[in-house]
Amino acid sequence: MSGNHPKAETIDFTKARLVSTFNELSKQIQTPEDKVSRLARRLQTSLDVATVIRIFCEELSSFVSFDHYEFYSKIHGIQLGSDKKAVHSCDYALTLATESLGHICFTRSKKFKEEELSIIEHLLGTLVYPLRNAILYKQALDAALTDALTNAGNKRALDAQLHREAELSRRHETPLSVIVFDLDRFKRINDTFGHAAGDEVLKLVVKCIADNARKCDMCFRAGGEEFTLVLNGTHQAGARIIAERIRKRIEDTRFYYSDKEIPVTISMGTATFRENETIAELMERADKALYRAKQDGRNKVYSAEALERKKIAQ
Ligand code: GH3
Ligand code: MG
Ligand code: MG
Repeated sequence: MSGNHPKAETIDFTKARLVSTFNELSKQIQTPEDKVSRLARRLQTSLDVATVIRIFCEELSSFVSFDHYEFYSKIHGIQLGSDKKAVHSCDYALTLATESLGHICFTRSKKFKEEELSIIEHLLGTLVYPLRNAILYKQALDAALTDALTNAGNKRALDAQLHREAELSRRHETPLSVIVFDLDRFKRINDTFGHAAGDEVLKLVVKCIADNARKCDMCFRAGGEEFTLVLNGTHQAGARIIAERIRKRIEDTRFYYSDKEIPVTISMGTATFRENETIAELMERADKALYRAKQDGRNKVYSAEALERKKIAQ
């Protein structure tokens, strides 16, 4: 396990027999019992994955020195610590029964000794249940904020995110824009191809958006076939460019259900947050722009500000 290891050691804690009894371990690592019990106690104090991992690493560092740690789980969408690598590393895949909890990796410039690896493995035994509980808690929180059909954020998540982003935008004086969009003639898609095909289209549209937006552009399902993208750090012009790119991408993508091609387009309205404006007012302006895009024939992007300027000029 020491040195550069391409493959992680897998520890299944339901089956693992710990390296030694606690007394033997205490002798080996020459540390008072209360250090291990303090680790176990501290790990019970949080249900936040990042905090649980931080506590573990803090406590572990008093047993074994290391320069960097990294914890990641692709399936649970978690990436913590530093991906900096020193010359030597020990890497563990943590599993409980058949359930993968993630990988934890420690690196440093000096080779890990066998006794140190035994200590790490032993202490990982105290991490695994608090970590599993924190992951379950995260899953419950995520589920409460996620739309089950499309995996986009739900209305509750959208409201919370808008409040957070508006606060950050005001505090740091950074731009914030929203794009609201609605599938065109979606009722007709349901009527022609069936409700299941309609569901599939909703999923594919969200996937297409995710593939074409920046990582920090958050997509939320605000209602049946209505979605909102929250773009932090984005001005009016940027929002229009992103919206137009997405509109075009949806128009150009071929959507299939049961070998039948389904024509899909979307209409979009963009608006950029103003000082002294409420979130409700921002969303109302974006909705009005979307409504105009629908009125003008659909499959279009309209900006609230451009419409307002046009109105003033008239
Ligand atoms: P427009 O271009 O004006 O937006 O027309 P539209 O047909 O898309 O708009 P309308 O609001 O008349 O219809 C929306 C349809 O979306 C009606 C509703 O049955 C359908 N819908 C809402 N939620 C879902 C869903 O989760 N799955 C499916 N398959 N259809 C849904
Ligand atoms: Mg629609
Ligand atoms: Mg609609």
